Amino acid sequence: MTEVTSSVAGVEVSLDHWIGGKRVSSSERFQNNSPIDGTDLGAVSAGGKAEVEMAVEAAISAFPEWAALGAEGRKPILDKFARGILARNEDLAKVECADNGSLLMGNIHRLVPRTAQNISFFAEYAMSLQDHIIDHEEVTNDVRYDPSGVAALITPWNAPLMLTTWKIGPALAAGNTIIVKPPEWAPLTCSMLADIAHEAGVPAGVLNVVQGIGEDAGDALVNSPELARISFTGSTDTAKIIGQAAARTITPMSSELGGKSPLIVCSDANLDAAAQTVVMQYMNAGQVCLAGTRILVESSIEAEFLEKVRRALGQMVVGDPREANTRIGPLIHPEHFARVAGFVERAKAAGGEVLWGGATSDVGDLYFQPTMFTNVGLDAEISQCEVFGPVLTWQTFDTDEEAIAVANGTQYGLAGTLFSGNEDRAMRIASRVVAGTLWVNCYFVRDLSAPFGGSRISGIGREGGSHSFDFYCDIKNIAVRKGSFAGGGN
Ligand code: NAD
Repeated sequence: MTEVTSSVAGVEVSLDHWIGGKRVSSSERFQNNSPIDGTDLGAVSAGGKAEVEMAVEAAISAFPEWAALGAEGRKPILDKFARGILARNEDLAKVECADNGSLLMGNIHRLVPRTAQNISFFAEYAMSLQDHIIDHEEVTNDVRYDPSGVAALITPWNAPLMLTTWKIGPALAAGNTIIVKPPEWAPLTCSMLADIAHEAGVPAGVLNVVQGIGEDAGDALVNSPELARISFTGSTDTAKIIGQAAARTITPMSSELGGKSPLIVCSDANLDAAAQTVVMQYMNAGQVCLAGTRILVESSIEAEFLEKVRRALGQMVVGDPREANTRIGPLIHPEHFARVAGFVERAKAAGGEVLWGGATSDVGDLYFQPTMFTNVGLDAEISQCEVFGPVLTWQTFDTDEEAIAVANGTQYGLAGTLFSGNEDRAMRIASRVVAGTLWVNCYFVRDLSAPFGGSRISGIGREGGSHSFDFYCDIKNIAVRKGSFAGGGN
């Protein structure tokens, strides 16, 4: 079948799979529209079992040669891939913006550079880390980081470029071959990554992209018996389904899931910095797993702090994400919009008081006002469930014990943020909040070598630095008895 492409924001993008170094078209297709204004972005190939089988076969065939290259052999190719991403910064930024409504300027200045870094950082890291000797009295432990085989990478729509390359980088650098299943609500930039990787010399079959709906293409992929790894970022509910498939074949699975993170503001904090950070939680229209959606404020400074947040809120312009002064773009999809609006309506009906927002914005169909609820019980749906929209809750506390108890009072444990001017106090609270990442007097700082992941229902495992390699490698110890070879070697 002939390849189908679409002109998206002036950039020609393939709407087909990338399997074994070739574009593959499916007769089944799914419609993709821009959340900005509903523009038709084209009908994308909807893969299923047949396309997944082709991709698995291609990835298996490509594995021995890619693995044999070693970290040194793979690095120049991956570095070229990273440079290729930077060279197409504006194209990638525009397409990601059209596809998922993220801010164009943010994409150009932060997202695409970080996307490239996700590839080059792990290519470099793979060179330095890995194989080492642990010497023992009787044996030499020769520890090897062997590539594991074929890895399935599944990601969500809120930041496909960033989240997919955060997996592609270490998986390829470690010597695996991969099958990417992009999110069906924002599938386009993953398709572009396939072209860029190909142009950089990533061999056919090493990086494959199977487009499709989660319950079809995604399900077929995670049920493939040939996988060595499944790396998933998405919702907790989907992780439970994928986990069952992984359990059937004992395939290691890492999962980065949802959150309902606290943002704690103590009376001794820099309140201006804290207020700026509160309004940052509306970034990407609140469609950020790490967002601190529960604002916990020490009672003694509540009135003063509320005033500062209100003032900072003035910068949070809702609008077209292609405009430079826009800070909050659209929600991704009508279905998701209805979900967010449903949470807001139920919170109001349950007695929640709206401090600001609480309604649709008049910018367009999928735009929602930044919203803050107070007067909500700790067990209320809006205090417990991930909304994944520009909707926060405001609560107060009188003691540190109370702040910690409320912070830990959901099933999630992805992240947390704390503002305090007192180091002892800050570290005391920080050490007791259950979270994979706890930011103190800062927010959203993510070092690629630091561990990242969630506790409780926010995930299994950690990614970043050596943690990524621990996941994507089969770590083997060859323990050799000293002096056991002819000639007394070793
Ligand atoms: P989702 O779980 O609905 O979908 C994620 C991906 O899984 C998509 O590619 C989808 O097609 C696929 N999928 C769906 N059903 C599947 C199945 N049965 N088998 C295999 N694949 C399947 O999540 P979403 O709505 O796309 O994303 C939002 C969620 O992602 C939120 O909960 C958010 O917090 C979370 N998230 C977490 C992180 C993190 O790093 N912890 C980052 C971003 C988003």
